[in-house]
Amino acid sequence: MTISQQIPVATLGMPRIGRRRELKFALESYWSGKSSAADLLATAKALRAATWREQHDRGVSKIPSNDFSLYDHVLDTAAMVGAVPSRYAWKGGEVPLDIYFAMARGKQGETAGCGHAGHEHAVQGHHLTAMEMTKWFDTNYHYMVPELTDDQTFALLSTKPIDYFLEAKALGIHTRPVILGPVTFLKLAKSPAEGFNPMALLPRLLPVYEQLLRRLKLSGVDWVQIDEPALVLDLNPNERAAFEFAYGQLSKAAPELKIMLATYFGPLGDNHETAISLPLAGLHLDLVRAPEQLETVGRLAPKDLVLSLGLIDGRNVWRANLPAILDRIKPIVAGWPMDRVEIAPSCSMLHMPIDLRMETALDVDVSSWLAFAAQKTEELVVLAQALSEGREAAAGALKASAEAAAARATSTKVHDPLVEGRIASIDDAMKQRKSAFAQRSRVQAAALGLPPFPTTTIGSFPQTPEVRKARSAHVKGELSYVDYETFLKKETEAAIRWQEEIGLDVLVHGEFERNDMVQHFGEQLSGLAFTQHGWVQSYGSRYVRPPIIFGDVSRPNPMTVRWWQFAQSLTEKPVKGMLTGPVTILNWSFVRDDVPRSDACRQIALAIRDEVTDLERAGARMIQIDEAAFREGLPLRKSDWKVYLDWAVECFRLASTGVGDATQIHTHMCYSEFNEIIDAIAEMDADVISIETSRSKMELLDAFTSSKYPNEIGPGVYDIHSPRVPEVGEISDLVMLARERLSDGQLWVNPDCGLKTRKWEEVRPALVNMVAAACALREKVQAGGFPDS
Ligand code: GLN
Ligand code: ZN
Repeated sequence: MTISQQIPVATLGMPRIGRRRELKFALESYWSGKSSAADLLATAKALRAATWREQHDRGVSKIPSNDFSLYDHVLDTAAMVGAVPSRYAWKGGEVPLDIYFAMARGKQGETAGCGHAGHEHAVQGHHLTAMEMTKWFDTNYHYMVPELTDDQTFALLSTKPIDYFLEAKALGIHTRPVILGPVTFLKLAKSPAEGFNPMALLPRLLPVYEQLLRRLKLSGVDWVQIDEPALVLDLNPNERAAFEFAYGQLSKAAPELKIMLATYFGPLGDNHETAISLPLAGLHLDLVRAPEQLETVGRLAPKDLVLSLGLIDGRNVWRANLPAILDRIKPIVAGWPMDRVEIAPSCSMLHMPIDLRMETALDVDVSSWLAFAAQKTEELVVLAQALSEGREAAAGALKASAEAAAARATSTKVHDPLVEGRIASIDDAMKQRKSAFAQRSRVQAAALGLPPFPTTTIGSFPQTPEVRKARSAHVKGELSYVDYETFLKKETEAAIRWQEEIGLDVLVHGEFERNDMVQHFGEQLSGLAFTQHGWVQSYGSRYVRPPIIFGDVSRPNPMTVRWWQFAQSLTEKPVKGMLTGPVTILNWSFVRDDVPRSDACRQIALAIRDEVTDLERAGARMIQIDEAAFREGLPLRKSDWKVYLDWAVECFRLASTGVGDATQIHTHMCYSEFNEIIDAIAEMDADVISIETSRSKMELLDAFTSSKYPNEIGPGVYDIHSPRVPEVGEISDLVMLARERLSDGQLWVNPDCGLKTRKWEEVRPALVNMVAAACALREKVQAGGFPDS
């Protein structure tokens, strides 16, 4: 068989950050003024070259270009089409690097005469705010939200997709440029104008895309990949029509340029007719999240449409069972001509760590079940080879793949009969408190004796450079365990003393011993693994190393009891036990794919339940279970929400309801739109929830009227994302706004979130003011100064 008959292999997009996080270090060095723009661009260029070469050498035929970005591909698109908000004082033409980074990160204003060339656009003496950032679909990658006005104009200002194509060509590598599609771009955008829908700008945006496609064609591009993941969302008829209009136009712009339209992160579902009616050369399908689409779309799509089969999981780290994939697709693709098919990951591999070969400390068995971007690329090539030339041609690789899958399926490292037995014996009694909230709240009020508007914080205190230095010295073995403990005790004790001094009612130990709210727990649970280099971009130069949940989860030993005990031993005031909830641990990890997410979550819930009951036994009167990532786990399609919310609530309840009525369960959620999920939040039945509300001036509280949410609430009254110290009056005003929606008996007074990113110089006066505001309100209420709310 000749090479031309090989089924093409695509990767759709590769990680940008470099095996050793080269991009992060180059960016941060540039931002801090230690290196030049030329240095940064040279590092970026070398990373691109290496990534192309590797794919080329591995046998990838549809190598993506323009998947690279210095910060974010949505921001790149905004800059390319000239969507630069006016506050950046952009003068037209190609968006310069410093404006690009100001859009991404904001900018501290320069005072007059500071003399930095090229920084003239900064509003002097003011802080230039960054564009808003939000989650890219249901990943933990964050993109910069395009800001569009109703009088927005667009122009093609950057030749980045063309430049990168030519850059690869100069290396002898023919690539398929990737661009973000116009409909998804507009769908992700926002407009400050009330009632204005950015999708209305499509006719103005399309000419820019048309021009780009024509120029790509002239530069020698034959195929272009256009990403339109919006096709897996709930779309209204106007949005579907937008796809028809857009691709009708674009297909005419450069008729010989072939478009591979990439959809991913779920099934096309009710958008599938729209998708297959578009005048395209190719369509990519996510067959990991939605394997059933192969049959339906394959049957209905025009016979000359190339289908890119997303068979390898681009969202998770598991090695595939390649023979099983071949078995599954064979009956469907058997009769198809080979030039109708391409092999690809389910989505861009942007969300994958780069190379498993970097991991030298992982358990060897666990490691043999994993595949990162480099390994997944090899899997794609094997699949294509087996399909093109027959399984014998790839016999060795297929056998190894099946053996690894079989070993994983039966390994005692994955399956723990004790955990599986416990899951099987969960009953309804384990999912509810002994009494209803009304009864519990009476018992708790009597036991705790808190004043009205009790004050507390969310858990962490500043992770100062000293705290981080001590931790890293300890990790490196330069600071002994005993000395590290002594240091942490000193920090914790100082925090307790200070909280008492300023008169907070409910104290926290400060979380000085924690590296990260998930990792700290993950490292103490069985069934989770941690990588050394498995970094994944979260946003810009911020990367995370998610834990890998590979097996049944249990908690061999108490995780937080000792630190809580130490802190409580220093004070008469209640100290909250502080835990991360099961849904958050799950949503911020790579999750095993051999059991449903809900089952994996139940296991974590039982482990947290064990910790909760141990804390209670040790004497904790209040236990906070943080669920920062509860809302963000919502599925992309509304019709899937209920199933998720049902098991997520169930897991929180499993974790939290093992205690007696007198033990007060708190939870905390970061910024969330609560309106549509308020019933689920109420179902969680925490005694107290703290939420982020200060920046929205309590508008987020609209969901929590007393009738809908009867339990207690601490709406955040101090914006911890800003270094600014709120005045007493501002805090009182916010509590007064909260009183319009909730009864006094429900209200707590606390900051928006944990204080770990702040400095003590900011935290000290802010919390002093917060306590003063609560005291003043108490006095007024007790003196009958307010009409009853
Ligand atoms: N207890 C955690 C802290 O204060 C909660 C943080 C969060 O939910 N993001 O840091
Ligand atoms: Zn928070």
